[in-house]
Amino acid sequence: MNSFVDIPAMVAACRAVCGTVHLVGAGPGDPELLTLRAARLLGQADVVVYDHLVGPEVLALIGQDAERIYVGKERSHHSMAQQDINTLLVQLARAGRQVVRLKGGDPFVFGRGGEELQVLAAEGVPFEVVPGITAACGVASYAGIPLTHRDCAQSCTFVTGHLKDGSCDLDWPALARPRQTVVIYMGLSGLATICAQLVAHGLPANWPAAVVAQGTLASQRVVCATLATLAEEVAREGLQSPCLTIVGEVVRLRDELAWFGMQGAVEPVVAEPSTVAA
Ligand code: SAH
Repeated sequence: MNSFVDIPAMVAACRAVCGTVHLVGAGPGDPELLTLRAARLLGQADVVVYDHLVGPEVLALIGQDAERIYVGKERSHHSMAQQDINTLLVQLARAGRQVVRLKGGDPFVFGRGGEELQVLAAEGVPFEVVPGITAACGVASYAGIPLTHRDCAQSCTFVTGHLKDGSCDLDWPALARPRQTVVIYMGLSGLATICAQLVAHGLPANWPAAVVAQGTLASQRVVCATLATLAEEVAREGLQSPCLTIVGEVVRLRDELAWFGMQGAVEPVVAEPSTVAA
C-alpha cells in the first residue's frame, strides 16, 4: 500500500468541492468608495457575512438570491463571538458556497481579517482578499486633512485606542514625537486619556487634533481643537460614532482644504451607517 499523501491533489480536491471565502473591504462609508472588484463579488456571492460598519447602499449590491448573515461586532455588544464567526466561514465554504466576508474599511487594518484568514488557512479553505479604503485614508480625505505634508509630517502612524482587554496602553513616547501624524481608531471612549498622555509625553497642549465622526457620509462632522480642548469640544458637540481621531499639525490644513459638504463640492451620497460603533 502506498502511504504517500499527495498534498497538492488533496488541496485540489478540496478546492473542487469547497467554496472560496473572499475577505472584502467595504471602505469607510460612502458607497462610491467601494472597489469594482468588491462590487462584482457582492453581486456574485452565494452568502455574505457582514459587520455593523457596512452601510445599506453597499448591502444593496448583494444579489437577490444571496443569503445575508449579520455578525455585528459593535463595541461591547458582539452579536457573534469571533470564534463562531471563524467556524461559520469554514462551514459555509465547506458546503460549497461562494462566501463574501464583508468588513468596513480595509479588512487588514484593525479588522481582524488576519485572524479569520489564519483559521481558513489552517482548515485548508481557499480565500482571497480584496482591500478597501481604510477609515484613516477615506475620512482624512473627506475632512480635508492630508495625512502627510512635506512641511510638517513625514510619517503617519495608525493606532487603536482600544485593546483586546479594554485598556488603552500605547507607546506614548513614540506617538508624542513631532513631525508625524497619529491616527487613532476606536478611541472615542479613551479620548481624554489619549490627549492627556500625549501632552504628558511631550507634545504641546496647543498641538492640533481633530475628531471626525461618520466620515465620508452626508452626516460627517468634524471637530478641530487642541490636545487640551479636544475631549471637551467633542463631548459638547455630541459626536456620534464611528469616530476617528487625527493628531498633528496637518489638522490645521483643514482651514484651507475642507471641501466635502461645502458649496460647489460634489453632492454627498445620502447614507447613514446601518448601526454605529465606537
Ligand atoms: N477595518 C476598518 C476599521 C475597523 S475599526 C478600516 O480599515 O477602516 C472601527 C473604527 O474605524 C471605528 O471605531 C472608527 O475609529 C473607525 N471608522 C470606521 N469608519 C469610520 C467613519 N466612517 N468615520 C470615522 N471613523 C470611522
